[in-house]
Amino acid sequence: MMTTVKGKKMFLGGKWIEKDEVIHVYDPQDNSVISTVPKASKADILAAIEAAEEGAKIAANMPVHERITIINKAADYIEKNSDIFSETIASEGSKTIKEARGEVARCVNTLRLSAEEARRIIGETIPFDQMPGHENRIGYYYNFPIGIVAAITPFNDPLNLVAHKVGPAIASGNAIIVKPATLTPLSALLLAEAFDDAGLPGKVLSVVTGSGGEIGDTLVTHPSIRMVSFTGGLETGEKIAKKAGLKKLSMELGSNSPAIILQDADINEAVNSCVAGAFGAVGQNCLGVQRIFIETPNFDEFVHKFVNETNKYKTGNKKDEATDMGPLISEKEAIRVEEWVNDALKDGATLLTGGKRDGAFYSPTVLTNVPTDAKIAKEEIFGPVVILFEVKDLDEAIEKANHVNYGLQAGIFTKDINLAFQAIKQLEVGGIMINDSSDYRIDGMPFGGVKGSGLGREGVKYTIQEMTEPKVVNFKLG
Ligand code: NAP
Repeated sequence: MMTTVKGKKMFLGGKWIEKDEVIHVYDPQDNSVISTVPKASKADILAAIEAAEEGAKIAANMPVHERITIINKAADYIEKNSDIFSETIASEGSKTIKEARGEVARCVNTLRLSAEEARRIIGETIPFDQMPGHENRIGYYYNFPIGIVAAITPFNDPLNLVAHKVGPAIASGNAIIVKPATLTPLSALLLAEAFDDAGLPGKVLSVVTGSGGEIGDTLVTHPSIRMVSFTGGLETGEKIAKKAGLKKLSMELGSNSPAIILQDADINEAVNSCVAGAFGAVGQNCLGVQRIFIETPNFDEFVHKFVNETNKYKTGNKKDEATDMGPLISEKEAIRVEEWVNDALKDGATLLTGGKRDGAFYSPTVLTNVPTDAKIAKEEIFGPVVILFEVKDLDEAIEKANHVNYGLQAGIFTKDINLAFQAIKQLEVGGIMINDSSDYRIDGMPFGGVKGSGLGREGVKYTIQEMTEPKVVNFKLG
């Protein structure tokens, strides 16, 4: 079964269907066409919703032990075929083969966690006798599935971010319709293959490939959709939030994450961790380190070592085991990153290394002397560019780190527990890593941001909380 459907068909209400109109999927490295996928129409979305209306009833009635078995079987399938999954990620996306293998391993873990959490969807008894006159009442609440979830996903983690929505949705008895990024639809279709092979009843899951701009409204505005679970950029997230109407929203959006290096930090540890955090996945990572604030006594040493380590980063063919960094997702994106850097240079920034583009490739780039109000310091670059700022103390670092409309995660390097706690209290983010960069995550932790970085939390258990709703039961005794 594996690879017979890959890329040629989409998974609609349990059936693999072809369409005359197709979308070409490219390898950004050389712009070669690697596959095609059907171009879904609004009618296809309506058909997926109609199937999901039945699928939601089937999913809600599926015993928990069956959900666990199916999710674990899908995880087994991915493990068994991990080479095909990794190859697919490294072909349609911009990750290297090493990074792609890491994503496949995380996807298996996300699904196994989902299977485990399925048995922990519990409720509580409620002491109704806390109110005078309610002594003869007894009751509880339990969590029931929300119904149909619309999942809209980005290009940068084309498998695991889809699994972060599909695993918890099935674990909690929901139907789910996935609209993957047009640039990277193949990994999501492989995930559908895994669930199809695992025996998931048809109609519980659809993976519909098509342009978000064309079919997105039909999906997010439909009254049968009870939750929109979106991962992507702030601009798209805001558009969806305005249109979706009265339904639950989960918004996992972007950031321009800060790292703070205090004068007592272990410089080598900070440099290594921030270089990896800035340039992993070509910087196309919502957690990527974009702004680094370094206390004055460490500034020169940090800059010197950071540039040295950056220069060791090997850019090249994604499929080469020795490559650290491949191309951006498209030449268009590489040109955008180049323009942002050139604008910063015109505004007085200093280029310490990088700044070179070759097609979709952009070299790891380090800037300093960037005005804090420059676009590149305030917006999300989503590319391999990092800015180094000198600060006089932690107060200044925190003030500048918070001076943006994002707040996903942050890192601080210090041995001083009191300063670490000051940062924990004052940084406006959803997660703080002490002695690590913002780019630290496990799939079982609450994950999400504040301000323009989003609404709600993912991380399997927390996604399940978002995808279920409490129902109160009360018995009036005689
Ligand atoms: P994007 O342009 O916002 O697209 C994300 C998804 O939204 C795609 O599937 C896209 O479809 C769809 N879409 C576009 N317009 C739509 C509309 N009007 N209605 C409904 N759906 C629509 O983001 P991206 O460039 O793929 O991904 C990069 C962004 O994702 C970055 O900002 C990054 O920080 C963020 N991100 C956040 C997290 C997190 O967990 N917080 C994780 C990863 C990435 P098409 O592809 O067809 O346009």
